[in-house]
Amino acid sequence: MASVQRNRERELSLSEVIRKYPHVSPFVIIKADVQRRGVSFSRAALDRVDLAVHQVEYRGFSRETTGAIPVSLMMRDGTSILTGFTVNNGNRIPYIVDIADDRIVLTDQGSVIEEVDYWEKPDYYSKETSNHIPMWQIAMARPQRIDLYPFQYCEFWDTPGQGCKYCSIAVTYKKAQKSKYIGLTDIAETVREALKQPGRYMSVFLTGGSILSGKEMLDDEVNLYISVLREIGKNFRTPKFPSQLIATAFTKKQLKRLFENTGLSSYTADIEVLNKEKFEWICPGKAAKIGYDEWKNRLYHAVDIFGAGNVNTGIVGGVEMAKPNGFTGEDEALEAVLSEAEELAKHGVSVVQCVWTVAEGSVFFNQKTPSLDYYVRLSYGLDQLRRKYRINADMDNYRRCGNHPDTDLSRI
Ligand code: SF4
Repeated sequence: MASVQRNRERELSLSEVIRKYPHVSPFVIIKADVQRRGVSFSRAALDRVDLAVHQVEYRGFSRETTGAIPVSLMMRDGTSILTGFTVNNGNRIPYIVDIADDRIVLTDQGSVIEEVDYWEKPDYYSKETSNHIPMWQIAMARPQRIDLYPFQYCEFWDTPGQGCKYCSIAVTYKKAQKSKYIGLTDIAETVREALKQPGRYMSVFLTGGSILSGKEMLDDEVNLYISVLREIGKNFRTPKFPSQLIATAFTKKQLKRLFENTGLSSYTADIEVLNKEKFEWICPGKAAKIGYDEWKNRLYHAVDIFGAGNVNTGIVGGVEMAKPNGFTGEDEALEAVLSEAEELAKHGVSVVQCVWTVAEGSVFFNQKTPSLDYYVRLSYGLDQLRRKYRINADMDNYRRCGNHPDTDLSRI
């Protein structure tokens, strides 16, 4: 703990960063820091969880042995903080959610930082599909989005050493003893039921690990999403419906097939690391099967098909500084990432960042995340690029996704 404290002392504190960047929303800065350091809950804060009202998760994959934890937090201005499973991310001292003056608050080593609330549970969470599967196991929910994960594994992990080094999907899949696929009928029934709740959702979101098989590589992944999207599309009267798919980078032919046969309105293929050499080290499967330059080309093809503002790519913010082969300085890393992001923006592709979660079970477990100052500069830089190249961030904004500090800045 002492070395963690020493490391933190060399970095600017939350209040110093808020003062340094008066043009950046303090809510967004707090969000980035909570995600960067992790969050835990006091007993009093957990006692405020109302299972009839709040959306919860059960750490440890077992309802019987572990208590319910709020799935994520919401701040006063509507900014979400996705807290995930990580309690002290990147070996840092976590924030604590506690109670003060009868309010639920975020605290940092005893000081109250900001009031927060827990996400509300959607109506469909208490229902079951006709196969007697609880609907909360079929689709998760963000405050305004239905989230589906039709394929719960990733085939890059089938080749030893080819999974992305920050990713824990293979470990999670094995621990949870899940089946690889979610049934199509269960998905259809759950989405139909979810949409009955008036005013709750503004989009449907799909993602999952890569499926490499098929007549041409990735054809089976494309086929899976076509069948799921067609089923979901039965709920809408328009040819396209508000939706986002995060998938592998498909070929032009595959993208056209996806676009022409479904109501999908926006597409994301996460490049994860914006530097060719670091990408090849951190995402060896993606590098071997598709390659950095080809990944970018496929994103450009996607813009031709889906239109500018409807295509983006995600990066794991900060992972470019992982040891031992990452950038050693934050200035150097930021310059490299933002110059690559600018090239993508010139082609109509928006870059969004997720704060690096140093996930248990990943190759990079126990690494240290960059400073808060870095995340603020990265978020601001990505937002400025979208403004410069006039790329709309709505497909991944604070209401649909809520996981990207940079697209939170697009509200202002
Ligand atoms: S592509 Fe990489 S990050 Fe995505 S699920 Fe597979 S291994 Fe994980």
